[in-house]
Amino acid sequence: MVDSFDILIVGGGPVGLWLACEVRLAGASVAVVERRQEGVLQSRAGTMHSRTLEMFALRGLAARFLASGKRQPEWHYGMLDTLLDYSRLDSRFPQTLRIPQATTEKLIRERAAELGVVYLSGHQAEAIRQDHSGVTVEGTTDKGRFHLQGRYLVGCDGARSLTRQQAGIAFLGHEPTHTWLLGDVRLDLPEGAPTMTKYNEHGGLLIAPPGDDGRSRIVVTTPDETNPALFRQELTLEELARKTRKILGTDYNMRDPFWLSRFSNETRLAERYRSGRIFLAGDASHIHAPFGGQGLNVGLQDAFNLGWKLAAVINGEAHDVLLDSYEAERRPVGKQLNDSTLTQNVLMTAFSRGGLGLRKMVSDCLAFPEVNEKIAGQISGFSVGYEDVGPLRGFSETPCVTGVGMRAPDCSVRREDGSETTVYQLLSSGHWLHLSFGTDATVSLVDALREESVIQIRSAERPHKFFEGATAVLIRPDGYSAGVL
Ligand SMILES: Cc1cc2nc3c(=O)[nH]c(=O)nc-3n(C[C@H](O)[C@H](O)[C@H](O)COP(=O)(O)OP(=O)(O)OC[C@H]3O[C@@H](n4cnc5c(N)ncnc54)[C@H](O)[C@@H]3O)c2cc1C
Repeated sequence: MVDSFDILIVGGGPVGLWLACEVRLAGASVAVVERRQEGVLQSRAGTMHSRTLEMFALRGLAARFLASGKRQPEWHYGMLDTLLDYSRLDSRFPQTLRIPQATTEKLIRERAAELGVVYLSGHQAEAIRQDHSGVTVEGTTDKGRFHLQGRYLVGCDGARSLTRQQAGIAFLGHEPTHTWLLGDVRLDLPEGAPTMTKYNEHGGLLIAPPGDDGRSRIVVTTPDETNPALFRQELTLEELARKTRKILGTDYNMRDPFWLSRFSNETRLAERYRSGRIFLAGDASHIHAPFGGQGLNVGLQDAFNLGWKLAAVINGEAHDVLLDSYEAERRPVGKQLNDSTLTQNVLMTAFSRGGLGLRKMVSDCLAFPEVNEKIAGQISGFSVGYEDVGPLRGFSETPCVTGVGMRAPDCSVRREDGSETTVYQLLSSGHWLHLSFGTDATVSLVDALREESVIQIRSAERPHKFFEGATAVLIRPDGYSAGVL
């Protein structure tokens, strides 16, 4: 028997699961095909940025993540001595959140179960095909073959994505040239020790403050870590401790590892994010060294951008051409992500006297609040906007051309009857939001949307400088403006 769904997602990691939540929330049927039987146990991504917390707030979920992590207002850039200060961001979440990837995945999986996402674990996808009418995925389980069909398919199947390969999309970039050692270990650090960095001619390292399990993450590299063949070699506690001692003079009694691994600076970006009915999101579309803790954050935002668009097309609200805006909006963000990590890579492999001088100079520049804020805004996803892409196409009405693609802030809104809410609470059901200020004027796109898709609020006042001079604003389900009157 062939099961049929609106959307098929290959890969049930955090990005695939989050995308599934979004399309399901908007009423489309979705199946996630995941080869693993169990979730990941390693901590992997440990940093959740403020725009990702805002994204979860846009679905009423931020409290779940905040309750499971540790707020940290500062985090490193290029392992420089001056840290990025996220506390200056104009957000309800002016910080990073230390939260293991395993916890993030667990919370998203719970959300998916609440929404009724069909999650097929133990399903290895092997063949992905498309024609003018739909997509199919075939593969194996321990009980035999499976065969699914759908209208669209999204490859969220990670760095070595089968979807990307079978869709014939090139993964442009370069091989590893440098590797880093990573351990989640117990250390006898001084009480209350902050994030610690050290760079000298012997190498460089970063030690994050301990998490709830009492372990710190330590990342180490040396000028010698340039042999890509060593990348696959198992890391021992002895090697990590020895290289730490050489740089720092101590290994803080390093012991009891939970996870030891290596990562590299292999950096690639998918040439396209779309091929017909097939899309890519998350690590399937961009890989890079995990500097600044960005990959998962950007992947989740990819999914957030694509989910409501797929659902709008499935629900007959928009034409297929709307889906082109996914690549137009998100591929430049993927490119910026790669550029950011490559820039940090230069700083983090600079062990010569001149290189160490360059590190000091950039570190001193980060001490200027404006510089620090600009880079914190980039790394956190906070300053991402789609203004340059222009109006959304694919709706039956001519779209508004002014005020498109800007991040809407989560400010309080007072309705005309005096009751209070916030912009993000109003968006938590995944609908569009139309806010008007003392007039009946509407942004034209509203007429192209189904009545039940748009929450319309007449606000007694303009609650934030974002709305200054506007008579009406339409906000997309992912929290960016779609037009301002
Ligand atoms: C050491 C380290 C530290 C990191 N730190 C951070 C950080 O602090 N912040 C951050 O934002 N990011 C960080 N990252 C990056 C982050 O881990 C990834 O970006 C994230 O896992 C990507 O999620 P994904 O869902 O796109 O892909 P994945 O997590 O790789 O999930 C892909 C899924 O697809 C499944 N799959 C693959 N092929 C098939 C198939 N053929 N059939 C069925 N299923 C398939 C896999 O089993 C897997 O579950 C870090 C990464 C590393 C290695």
